[in-house]
Amino acid sequence: MSCLKGRVYRMREWIKANAGKTYKNFINGEWIESVSGKTSVLYESAIPTNELGHFPDSVIEDVNLAVEAADKAFQQWKNTPGTTRASVLYRFADLLEANVEELAYILSAEQGKVLAESRGEVKRAATEARFSAGEAMRMDGAIMPSENPEIQTQVKRYPIGVIAAIAPWNFPVVTPVRKVAPAIAYGCTVVLKPASVTPWSTIRLMELLAEAGLPNGVVNLVIGSGSKVGDPLVSHPLVKGISFTGSTALGLRINEIAASKLAKTQLELGGKNAAVVLDYDNLEYAADQIVSAAFAVSGQRCTAISRVIVLQDQANSLVEILKTKMENILVGPAWEENVTMGPVINRQQFDSVMDYIELGKKEGAELVYGGERLQVGEKEEGYYIQPTLFTKVNKTMRIAKEEIFGPVLVVMEASDVAEAIELANATDYGLAVSVFTNQLDVSHDISDKIDTGMVHINHGTASQAHVPFGGVKQSGFGAYSIGHSNQEFFTSMKAVYVKP
Ligand code: NAP
Repeated sequence: MSCLKGRVYRMREWIKANAGKTYKNFINGEWIESVSGKTSVLYESAIPTNELGHFPDSVIEDVNLAVEAADKAFQQWKNTPGTTRASVLYRFADLLEANVEELAYILSAEQGKVLAESRGEVKRAATEARFSAGEAMRMDGAIMPSENPEIQTQVKRYPIGVIAAIAPWNFPVVTPVRKVAPAIAYGCTVVLKPASVTPWSTIRLMELLAEAGLPNGVVNLVIGSGSKVGDPLVSHPLVKGISFTGSTALGLRINEIAASKLAKTQLELGGKNAAVVLDYDNLEYAADQIVSAAFAVSGQRCTAISRVIVLQDQANSLVEILKTKMENILVGPAWEENVTMGPVINRQQFDSVMDYIELGKKEGAELVYGGERLQVGEKEEGYYIQPTLFTKVNKTMRIAKEEIFGPVLVVMEASDVAEAIELANATDYGLAVSVFTNQLDVSHDISDKIDTGMVHINHGTASQAHVPFGGVKQSGFGAYSIGHSNQEFFTSMKAVYVKP
């Protein structure tokens, strides 16, 4: 107990000691004020009256400076040996691990996720950075058979140039690293724009990258509102690729702008992921996996399970077990070590989730658990929502089709496997699915028939740091991220014919 209190004390004290500073953009290796001269205040998620710091309100001129710096650095970086590029990333990964605790404090303060989740995110970012470091030496080409014995035929790969890396607020450490690390490894340079509600952890990432020995201009950070700097960044003629993670609506817009100048895109978008439970003999285990995948980060994950599709025979039993497990979720502020679910990030997200809960009731779904705001602390603090469960949901309801991005789970019943597959596919999204079945033939069949980028048989929607990650339909476009598939996005091919 004293150990827990010690940890709580450290995070609160650390934030108190470090909050309130004014931060700058990082361009060409220097911290510089925005040309606008303006900053915006960032508030703590769990205590929205606590000021965390002041962050640049960047404008188009800042974007232009950053892109020009990245383009200049690209001329050198693309010819820097892979071993050198890798060594920066290995040092960066070490620094992430050495700074897990501090980064976790920042991440929990600005985003609201519980400390255990923040620590996990930072460690995962380090693992992904290390995988990317290895990629610097795995860029591959091909020697092809030739029609003409006097001509050798080769396919070579080259980095594409300046990448605009645009990150969302739900994973403000791992998402930037997931974009920046492969870009560095493959020889590209970057202008990074974090979400405006989570800039602090990205500042710290940038400091660590610089400490790792990254040459000036290879990664540049521009902080500001997407409505001001988004379009100028995406449409800049020197930006050759846009790696975007965020909402489908914005992804579609970015893709249009990119298409108009034939820039490449790697789009990681929304999800409405199902857990499909088919005559499974261990409902306790399935419910554990579902609850953990549904309510981690308060359901604010693209791969969160937000629908359960279960065969009618098992529906009542599964719902009872889910409810019991949801009762055991301890909701509270990020820094309490025994808490398992934090608040949603801010008022805007809270309103959006509560609107969906009201909509679910109006649509005729049955609210069987949760659905209310939770008061945590003495005064009105943080936006805590009870884990929420709806049953009697059908595929035409908006709560069954749209991404809620909060702690809300809906249960739909299917009469047989074919209907379960139909329900799983009855959404515009296609990111991830979990299937619980004891029959291997069913699992293979379902992997083929459910239209998602990722399928998890008999476990929740957790990904691994070296396996391609992405979605189909409205959930993603372009090369998958994380694994070797990144090479498709960050490099272009050249066919080379040689007459020796
Ligand atoms: P968002 O509102 O789409 O914002 C994403 C990023 O785009 C932010 O940095 C935002 O900046 C920026 N942006 C805003 N307007 C822009 C413009 N005109 N041009 C370029 N960029 C612009 O998404 P979010 O609310 O941060 O994140 C939640 C969404 O991300 C969910 O839909 C979730 O499913 C998705 N997501 C997907 C994955 C995946 O791998 N598939 C992973 C994580 C999250 P501001 O913050 O300044 O507005």
